[in-house]
Amino acid sequence: MISKAVLQLLNQRKEKFLIPAEIVANVQENNSLEHAFLVLSKVKYAKIPVLDQDQHFKGLLSLAMITETMLGLTGIDPTRLGRIQVKDVMQTDVPTICPPYDMEEILHLLVDQTFLAVVDENGVFTGILTRREVMKAVNYLAHDLEKEYTVEKK
Ligand code: AMP
Repeated sequence: MISKAVLQLLNQRKEKFLIPAEIVANVQENNSLEHAFLVLSKVKYAKIPVLDQDQHFKGLLSLAMITETMLGLTGIDPTRLGRIQVKDVMQTDVPTICPPYDMEEILHLLVDQTFLAVVDENGVFTGILTRREVMKAVNYLAHDLEKEYTVEKK
């Protein structure tokens, strides 16, 4: 259980955690890997969200998932990318979070993921919450805890 003081200070900054869907690079599950390859190369992010036509979150796609499909028995075959869709190779066992945020769950999940997809109650993608933004809040907490609370050793 997170201490009340820590939770309160983290919660003060939780509005800043979300990077809204409008500015998050994404691909559609029906896109070809060729298209996704171009998007991922351009945005330079390691992994990006995959959505369906109605903006529901479906999974994640990385460059590594794409390049693996190019490896044939006799070498690299980029022509395969035009024939395979994003949904055929994307990662689907991905945790998502839904507001109101459970800070304890978020801290736990961000140990293994650099970002978490945020969805509404209908599974519609609303943005991402990154480890970087949460670390900024933890940094603030580390500096300001004793400005707002008296911490005594037991
Ligand atoms: P950062 O904390 O900015 O290093 O981002 C961590 C990860 O979150 C990146 O490697 C991407 O996978 C993802 N990410 C962050 N910002 C965006 C964005 N605007 N669009 C898509 N993915 C993003």
